[in-house]
Amino acid sequence: MSVTERTAVATEPLEVWIDQDLCTGDGICVQYAPEVFELDIDGLAYVKGPDDELRQQPGETAPVPLTLLQDVVDSAKECPGECIHVRRVSDRVEVYGPDAD
Ligand code: SF4
Repeated sequence: MSVTERTAVATEPLEVWIDQDLCTGDGICVQYAPEVFELDIDGLAYVKGPDDELRQQPGETAPVPLTLLQDVVDSAKECPGECIHVRRVSDRVEVYGPDAD
């Protein structure tokens, strides 16, 4: 992906979800972006929205605040479970994460 494409992606609304089946519970994502990720009592990470409520349905998403985009992207890159998926809201195409081009 070119620099131009990345910039275009970054200005579009993005959302993030976690595949808990692959989560190792190490909490790296929570260290990067505690506003977006949280470890629940089951030891797995979940996304949460502006209301601070965890999205616990499989595949449920939370919006990625633009100010936290880099932290969320870094989380997806560092996630040892390769289970953090960041996608465009408009067409659900993954832009960061294991299924991104
Ligand atoms: S970084 Fe990935 S594997 Fe680790 S707790 Fe977060 S979602 Fe789970």
